[in-house]
Parts: sequence; C-alpha cells; structure tokens
Amino acid sequence: MPGRWALKLCPELPSALARGVNILVITGTNGKTTSSHIAEEALKAAGVDCLSNRSGANLLSGITTELAMNCTLTGVCRKKWAVIECDEAAARRAIGLLQPRAVLVTNLFRDQLDRYGEVMHTLENIREGIKNAPDATLVLNADCSLTSSLALELPNRVRWYGMDAGAAAPSAGKPQLSDASRCIRCKTEYVYDYVTYGHLGAFRCPRCGYSRQRTDVAITAIRAQDADGSEVTLRDGDDLLEARINLPATYNIYNAAGAFASVRALGFDAAPALQALGSFRCGFGRMEKFDLGAGGTRVMLVKNPAGCDQVLHFLSSLQDRAELVLLLNDRAADGTDVSWIWDADFETLAEEAVKLERAVLGGTRAWDLYLRLKYAGVPEDKLDVTRDYEALTERIAAARVPVYVMPTYTALLEFRPYLLKKCGGTDFWEG
Ligand SMILES: [Zn+2]
Repeated sequence: MPGRWALKLCPELPSALARGVNILVITGTNGKTTSSHIAEEALKAAGVDCLSNRSGANLLSGITTELAMNCTLTGVCRKKWAVIECDEAAARRAIGLLQPRAVLVTNLFRDQLDRYGEVMHTLENIREGIKNAPDATLVLNADCSLTSSLALELPNRVRWYGMDAGAAAPSAGKPQLSDASRCIRCKTEYVYDYVTYGHLGAFRCPRCGYSRQRTDVAITAIRAQDADGSEVTLRDGDDLLEARINLPATYNIYNAAGAFASVRALGFDAAPALQALGSFRCGFGRMEKFDLGAGGTRVMLVKNPAGCDQVLHFLSSLQDRAELVLLLNDRAADGTDVSWIWDADFETLAEEAVKLERAVLGGTRAWDLYLRLKYAGVPEDKLDVTRDYEALTERIAAARVPVYVMPTYTALLEFRPYLLKKCGGTDFWEG
C-alpha cells in the first residue's frame, strides 16, 4: 500500500530509491521465489548485506515499498545489494526503473491466461523492460526456446545456463506438454536432442537454425535425487563442481542453476553460491515441510500445467505410497480460468506411477478436480471432497503415509495457517 501511493505521487520513485544499489532482478513464469531465496542466501554467504522482497510482493508497488523501507529519510538506500523478484507483467516498467546489474529469466510457460494473455505477451513485457536496461547482464535459461529468444533482439551481454545432455533423462524426442512447439522465428516444428520437462531441452529449428546456446553454467549430471534434495555435478565455465541442492525435484535443479549463474554473473565466487545451494530454505509452499502425520507433510504450490506436471513427476519418482491433498481455488490471484487442470498430466495418478493411497480434493473448485481425476482414471473410491480445513488438518495429522498438499496460491494462503497451528504455531522449516 505505501508503495502504491508513493508511485501515484512519483512514478519515477523506484528509480531514485534504487540509485547506487546493485540489483539482481529475477523474473519468469516458474521458480522466481525459490531462485530469489537461493541468490539471496549466496550473497549473504559472500558476506554481502542485501535486501529482498521476501514477502513475495513482486509487483512494482511491493518492490517500491521494500526499497523505501530500506532507505534513509533522504532516500538513500542503506544496502548496496538487492535481490528483487519481479512479476512478469511488472517487468515491463520495473526493469528500466531499477537499472539492475543482472536480470535472471527462469523460463516462460503458459500461466494464468485470463490475467496475462498468452505467453508471447509475457515475453514481450520482459523484452520491453530489458530494452530500457542495456547495461544489465542477462542470465537466460538456454533450454527454454522462448526465454532464449530474448537474446535475438537485445544487445545485452548474456550468460546461459541449463541442463546438458548428461543430466537429462534418456527420453529424447518430443516434449509431452509444450507451450512452444514451433520455432519462434520461422514457425517450423523444433527438433529436440533431449527434453528435460515441458518444452525445455536441447531444441533446434531444422529450417532457420535457431537453437539452444552453449551453456556457461550447466548441470552435467544428476547423481542422486530423493525427497529432500539432489546431488548434482555442475559445470561452471570449464570447472566441474559437486553440488548438493537442498530441495527435491528437477525444476528446483533449474532454479539452483539459474541462481548460481546469476550470482557468478554478478562477479561473486562459486564457493558461497555452492554453500547456498546446499543450505537454503524456502518455505511458504515451496516443498515446505510440516511435521504432521507418520510420514510428514509437504506443501507444493501449483499454478500452471507445467509446474503441476513437475510436481506429479516428482511424486512418481518416490517409492512410498502417498496421500495427496489437491486444493483448487479460482480467485483472481489463482487465475479464474481453471481449465488448465485438463492440460496437466493427472493420468500419472491413475497409472500407479504415483503410488496413490487417497486423494482429498478441496478449494472453491474441488468438484472440477473431482471430475478431472475421474476422467484421468483414478478410482472414485480413492477420491474425497472436503471444504472443512479443520477436519482436513486432523486427517493429515493422522495419516499413516506421507502427505503431499498441492494448493493453488490463495488456497495455500488459506490452508497453510491450519497446518502451522497444528504444528504448534512454529514454522520450523523457516525456523
Ligand atoms: Zn526457425
């Protein structure tokens, strides 16, 4: 709110407040929050005092509030470094105003269609924003053909990151769920040497030659993965480094690589970045762990089909039987159009790829989920619908197997307090 009023009075205020601050802006569809947390931890490990919009207020008003709160009365920022998570739509104005030293673009997926229009519009917002910051180093996901295209028209220096062939599952061919199956330049269908997830992978256009760039920072091997994290080999230029990533699932390996590449692009050593990968904690619905039920409870925010598929893919990699809680809301911050659930691969739940004990469905659109899972082939005797979060919490606490909660954004805001309260009110994950 203070930021919103301040912007009305003085639209150029963020630019004044950000003067003299070395800023890393992080934008993109998925992974902004996790990547921001890792980058912030890395800067701290390097001995740098930095500010960040941790509260997740990632619109220009929230960013302005955060900067203002760290300024002296004369408007000089007390901190010399900042990690700023920026909403894709806000990037258009924010990047020019902030004049960041580096901009990390994590990926571009279809997301909240009713709010942003299509993914190309999002890409345009980011491109227009960066046009006003020609001195910023771009840190781009080389595996995302949409993100990579930013480098086609912008003169900025670019650092590329991604997953090299050795880290990808040996399932070459076509992506299963693609938001970008055709070349952004000439509309020819891409050929993939390998796919990591969604439309990410080693793409190339057979007609015009637009293709994945060689990476400066890459994951070259995933040595081990479990419910708590991953052990990977990371190539930093020509150096091979062993890294532990303190969150599970493939999409967090991307977040780790992006954050690492950003911190290196800002001129910091690899050591503090590696330390951050192994120790960072994210919380707030990003694989957030609660000590409830015999097998523990994890909360994994889902916002779009690509992100949802990644969570389902992670679940299918686990050995134990599991109980799922899916909470689907259709408020403005979730996206009022919930048709995306038909694009997500819930069929994996029926195929016993995920060892599903039971699925409890909730949120304002619980019955849409019921229908979706029924069509996916999940037996109806495994499905329950509830609107009572108190009772749901009791049930989770009594579960004999691990519980995985997948809420949309506002469902996370509504349900998380029940879990916290049941855990005694202490947020031990963030602790
Ligand atoms: Zn082409």
